[in-house]
Amino acid sequence: MVFESLSEKLQNALGKLKGKGKLSEKDVDIAMREVRLALLEADVNFKVVKDFIKKVKERAIGAEVMESLTPGQHVIKIVNEELTKLMGEKESKLNFSSSPPTVILMCGLQGAGKTTTSGKLASNLKKQNKRPLLVACDVYRPAAIKQLEVVGERVNVPVFSMGDKHDPVDIAKAAMEHGKKNGNDVIIIDTAGRLHIDEDLMTEIKNIHEAVKPNEVLLVVDAMTGQDAVNVADSFNERLGITGVILTKLDGDARGGAALSIRTVTNKPIKFVGMGEKLDQLEPFYPDRMASRILGMGDVLSLIEKAQANIDTQKALELEKKIRTQQFTFDDFLDQLEQVKSLGPLDELMGMIPGVNSKALKDLDVNEKDIKRIQAIIQSMTVKERESPDIIDSSRRKRIAKGSGTTVQEVNKLLKQFKESKKMMKRFTDMEKTMKKKGKFG
Ligand code: GDP
Repeated sequence: MVFESLSEKLQNALGKLKGKGKLSEKDVDIAMREVRLALLEADVNFKVVKDFIKKVKERAIGAEVMESLTPGQHVIKIVNEELTKLMGEKESKLNFSSSPPTVILMCGLQGAGKTTTSGKLASNLKKQNKRPLLVACDVYRPAAIKQLEVVGERVNVPVFSMGDKHDPVDIAKAAMEHGKKNGNDVIIIDTAGRLHIDEDLMTEIKNIHEAVKPNEVLLVVDAMTGQDAVNVADSFNERLGITGVILTKLDGDARGGAALSIRTVTNKPIKFVGMGEKLDQLEPFYPDRMASRILGMGDVLSLIEKAQANIDTQKALELEKKIRTQQFTFDDFLDQLEQVKSLGPLDELMGMIPGVNSKALKDLDVNEKDIKRIQAIIQSMTVKERESPDIIDSSRRKRIAKGSGTTVQEVNKLLKQFKESKKMMKRFTDMEKTMKKKGKFG
């Protein structure tokens, strides 16, 4: 999962502050040194890191600590807010033209994911009752037009193409006419991959820009390329003027540097993130939720939204309430596991549950087989045991292990993990409550 290592390191560094009753300047210094290293190792832009640390330190040292927060929690709150700011504070939505069609020009390096993302975006817009048209302007790569046609067919969106013998500027102009005639209200132009230093191709895309006057120029960049992605974004922005970035392959093990630096370096927002190869795996980018996820504070909102699309919404809402009121039991855990299995990459989803931080995930070592074992263990518990795990003494543990075909060690591990998760959930919900009361959060 992206951010996994950063998340773990940040939580380690900040975890040391949590328990302290009083923080000295030296405590903050030490923690910030670790935070700085963690960010640099995650490939965050050097200057961004420097400013970030400076801001957090300024706010943390000498700041008035809120009554009900420990000084450590206060620092975490500041880090959370500053991380959110780095990524742009609020969700940045697409700008739609007041006189349709809205034109979206897609650009980027070859292989970044433009064609796939164009399809995802079209599918996304279709779900919002728009009538998108995809336009094939990549006349250089032999299979590109076909690829867009296949993608279009899969998401049931028309594709406009004129083969590879025409000038992309002419194709774009013809597509505008075609789209207007056919009532398409969003026109998504997929262009050839190009390097920002390729003068001819950069001139070509500028000409397309001039011809269609896009409402959005979206740069598609591959998160796996780290700082290169940031440099590409910076150059495209300078040469062409982009309106936003779509960061792809965030489902991979990118270290996160691109996501954390692009906004600050280019001053252009990340609008969407690609979370997989499938055409429904494009998500809006929420800086605040991403910051919470990085700090292991969970992302219950995204979890609920995923749930709304895929599973029993009522149950997901109940779950959120239970987490907040500390009534989360093994039954809920089991329920959750069953539903979660149908939702996709497990580590990504588990990371959205507060308290299930990357370290906890590692301890749990979540994979499909383990999930089955965990289910078996919980299913071997009595109703009472699931509600009040504290009553599970050693003889009950033996019985549960036997019943589930596992070992007492495995039962112990799960009980310990569950207890720790609950403790963490409590800590974060308490903290959130306090901040809400003071009107300083959420
Ligand atoms: P283009 O050359 O920029 O048009 O890139 P493509 O759309 O052909 O994508 C290149 C490769 O990246 C393909 O194999 C895609 O399936 C893959 N890809 C695109 N977006 C994502 C993503 O968000 N996650 C993952 N894992 N793969 C992606």
